Amino acid sequence: DNAQPKKPDWIRVKAPGGQGYAETARIMRDNNLTTVCEEAGCPNVGECWSQGHATMMIMGEVCTRACTFCNIATGKPPEDLDVFEPGRVADAVQKLGLNHVVITSVDRDDVEDGGAEHFAQTIRAIRHRSPGTTIEILTPDFLHCDPSVLQIVVDAKPDVFNHNLETVPGLYPSVRPGARYFHSLRLLQRVKEMDPEIFTKSGIMVGLGEERAAVHQVMDDMRAADIDFLTIGQYLQPTPKHHVLDRFVTPDEFKAYEKAAFGKGFLMVSATPLTRSSYHAGDDFARLREA
Ligand code: SF4
Ligand code: SF4
Repeated sequence: DNAQPKKPDWIRVKAPGGQGYAETARIMRDNNLTTVCEEAGCPNVGECWSQGHATMMIMGEVCTRACTFCNIATGKPPEDLDVFEPGRVADAVQKLGLNHVVITSVDRDDVEDGGAEHFAQTIRAIRHRSPGTTIEILTPDFLHCDPSVLQIVVDAKPDVFNHNLETVPGLYPSVRPGARYFHSLRLLQRVKEMDPEIFTKSGIMVGLGEERAAVHQVMDDMRAADIDFLTIGQYLQPTPKHHVLDRFVTPDEFKAYEKAAFGKGFLMVSATPLTRSSYHAGDDFARLREA
């Protein structure tokens, strides 16, 4: 029987609605922007949007990869990159009055530099309009690109460079076909080598069938690559066609992961069932900077 395990009561979320939520939705719509909050069906959208926290997704709505956990449409993107998009993103960030913004994208293996220059332009446009806003980017892996492409993004100086490993290496063939575990690790290590002032961040989902020891190994690998921040969240299966959910990891297990991660030297750790890459990213970053 392949029925999904029943959702436990710790996976409870606030229903979307209210004034803040509507205002965020309006700004996204008026600026013709896509959010990963909506596209990925994030369970935190009610909470985040009511506070104006939306993670904008640049470079279109169609991804050239097909990760089996992900709800984003995949295929051949119908359009070239939109040169006006960085300006619209910057406009939305200013209207939302964000202290910290997270920008992500689909993977664009069809574009020569994987979208590096587009990311750099988006960062520069936000800086120009909102110099006080800290900028976090959550990027694709630029797998088929030369390392010099990464330099383009690093030179734009995001405050936080986030790239998710998503799962343990043993599950890559079934979860993240088309990606390479060590390539993603190396990418983050390179960012740190290129500019040690940029904080690096990565994350995984649990509940996909990974062993606890493998999660600890991933944390060790991340620290060996000098990754500063870690997120661990529960995988939720978007539809029956997606990667099958193995189980719900308990809140106590998340706490144990969090404790272990701090012990391994991460500067910031978020490990809860509803943790997502961008969940409370701004609050956590502000706390760190005050410390
Ligand atoms: Fe959006 Fe991230 Fe909040 Fe989810 S956790 S609603 S993706 S900002
Ligand atoms: Fe989804 Fe990112 Fe994988 Fe594309 S590369 S399918 S957006 S997780």
